[in-house]
Amino acid sequence: MMVAQLADPFIEDDPARLTRLHRALGEMYKERGHFKFALDHAEKLHELTLRLTRQTAGLQSRMLINTLEIEQARHETERSQLEAQVLRIRAEKLDQQAHTDPLTLLPNRRALDRQLPALMRRAHDRAQPLCAAMVDLDHFKRVNDAHGHATGDRVLAAMGTILTAAIRDSDLAVRLGGEEFLLVFGDATPADAAKACERLLDAVSGFRWDDVAPGLRCTVSIGLAVRNTGERTAHWLARADKALYEAKRAGRNRVESAPQ
Ligand code: GH3
Ligand code: MG
Ligand code: MG
Repeated sequence: MMVAQLADPFIEDDPARLTRLHRALGEMYKERGHFKFALDHAEKLHELTLRLTRQTAGLQSRMLINTLEIEQARHETERSQLEAQVLRIRAEKLDQQAHTDPLTLLPNRRALDRQLPALMRRAHDRAQPLCAAMVDLDHFKRVNDAHGHATGDRVLAAMGTILTAAIRDSDLAVRLGGEEFLLVFGDATPADAAKACERLLDAVSGFRWDDVAPGLRCTVSIGLAVRNTGERTAHWLARADKALYEAKRAGRNRVESAPQ
């Protein structure tokens, strides 16, 4: 019966059944002393086992390769995501550097050009006039002459700290260049802006300048201008500049407001 089963044309498709048959026939012949037949079946069984082992090994290595390829693809995706993140951070840093004054760490003129339109829109939406204050250190040339350029630089750096502390999140303080700064009050009435300027005068004159250089004293003069409806930026800031000039002329360490 078992020999008949081996003659089944589909037996090759069922290696488990084939194995069982060869093993059973081999054992049966061995028990009966037909060693030649037993050996035939043992050899067939051996061949079959080898073939199955080879097939399984091939399958396992293919699976392993697949797993490794999936892992590799995952790593590559992660790596390109990280690279994109690094590039983004680097670009943000470069952008930050391009818009920051390195000495005072305040935004620079380029940052002003970029941020001013949004402040103007916001003020327009709130039907509130926008105020700008031009701030200039008094007799700064004398500071450099008396205490040296390095001390002058430290004064400018301290001005960065004072201005940053003086403004609110809605305001903007920039270093226009040299010892000149501009404040834009993003959410303040003209009266609020005037008060903020007076507070700034006190913050500068009351600063512990002695810690920067013994005997050092610094003050600022401020020109305040409220933007007229539809007024061009250059015109508005020129009025603030003119008010600053008036503050200097009137004796410095004071705020002058530009006429409307
Ligand atoms: P005023 O009260 O009229 O403004 O007089 P001032 O001396 O402050 O103005 P002036 O324009 O005569 O001189 C400004 C000085 O600021 C001259 C320049 O050397 C100095 N200065 C400009 N930029 C820097 C800087 O980055 N570092 C230092 N240490 N000094 C600077
Ligand atoms: Mg000056
Ligand atoms: Mg100046």
